[in-house]
Amino acid sequence: MKQVLTILGSTGSIGTSTLDVVARHPEKFDIFALAGNRQVSVLAAQCAAFNPRYAVVADAEHAAALEQLLAAEQCATEVLYGKQALIDVASAEAVSGVMAAIVGAAGLPPTLAAARAGKTIYLANKETLVVAGALFMETAKASGAKVLPIDSEHNAIFQVLPPDFSGSLSAHGIQSIVLTASGGPFLDTDLSTFSNITPAQAVKHPNWTMGQKISVDSATMMNKGLELIEAHWLFNAPPKDLEVVIHPQSVIHSMVRYLDGSVLAQMGNPDMRTPIAYCLGLPERLRSGVDALDFGTLAALTFREPDFSRFPCLQLAYDAMHAGGSAPCVLNAANEEAVAAFLGGRIRFTDIARVVENSLSAHVSGSLGCVDSLLQQDAETRACAQRHIAALGV
Ligand code: NAD
Ligand code: MG
Repeated sequence: MKQVLTILGSTGSIGTSTLDVVARHPEKFDIFALAGNRQVSVLAAQCAAFNPRYAVVADAEHAAALEQLLAAEQCATEVLYGKQALIDVASAEAVSGVMAAIVGAAGLPPTLAAARAGKTIYLANKETLVVAGALFMETAKASGAKVLPIDSEHNAIFQVLPPDFSGSLSAHGIQSIVLTASGGPFLDTDLSTFSNITPAQAVKHPNWTMGQKISVDSATMMNKGLELIEAHWLFNAPPKDLEVVIHPQSVIHSMVRYLDGSVLAQMGNPDMRTPIAYCLGLPERLRSGVDALDFGTLAALTFREPDFSRFPCLQLAYDAMHAGGSAPCVLNAANEEAVAAFLGGRIRFTDIARVVENSLSAHVSGSLGCVDSLLQQDAETRACAQRHIAALGV
């Protein structure tokens, strides 16, 4: 039977890679909805190619623009807009699977709605787990929603965990989970030049092609920090059992260390179509369009410890994970605001960590039970971060 998919964030890096995989297997997938926020011309082309029942954009203005483009293509896709429309297409009866590939906390409400509705969730939007890990995992468990990790590290771990993994590392003889990190573009850059790093330099990742926000997160290593929290929730892993190792070639996508001394790793070229195809195809392996790993041209696989003075954001994420409660939500919101300000030329690269640290120390920790309290904490943190950003302004 065909899977019926909604792709949230279809116009982004993960969204387009997903459609690339889907297009290779038209007999396996139907598209119910594509959501692309403000990128109407890309979305119109996707609608013409995949013929979804619905396309979702940010607001009425973008809806009118998309409708015009679709009419020119004689495409029958119906256009919806706004946040409720994202929730509706993520939880509609006809949908079996949802690719959660919106960037940032904006992805939380529709991803949570998919969990509530018991869908298979292809989870790329790591911010959902950082902001609302406990709530999201409990919701998925209660509804029977399957959560399949798209993030390459978590997908690698998922592939090398025992197939009957029960959610307890110790019960399966697992000592730790080892997340690999490329270290980003500034792994060996002179630290004294960090404050002059430009957005163009920061988004130029050495191994991966990704959206702007995650590229900056990779450059600060906040991305690895968010991924620690993501792994904590996905695999029920205590923080002490999570390791980070820098592996600049991005060939090993992560590892699981077992008590007997075995370390199992998943390897491949750095291309998100591999984890996407793995999850979409389960239990079958699908062709993804990714080239075979060529051992003849792999010079070396190297490893080193992360340097926290170079990557203070990684330390801040560790601290937030240990603190728990509302701290990861604050970490994420402050980081989103700081990264946007950096990309907009309003603060320096080195200010990103300052803004996050300031927000974390300003907040009063608490536990967050429901989505409304999480979103309120998110909004308060953004306001606090904006005040700090204005004060720092370059
Ligand atoms: P991107 O910036 O390329 O795409 C983001 C998508 O979300 C676009 O379709 C955009 O239109 C949509 N979007 C943005 N803001 C929105 C909003 N407020 N409301 C609704 N839609 C909105 O990002 P990406 O690199 O594809 O990353 C998407 C998610 O996947 C992120 O959470 C990221 O951390 C995660 N992820 C990405 C990669 C990667 O290789 N790109 C790898 C692992 C995880
Ligand atoms: Mg990753």
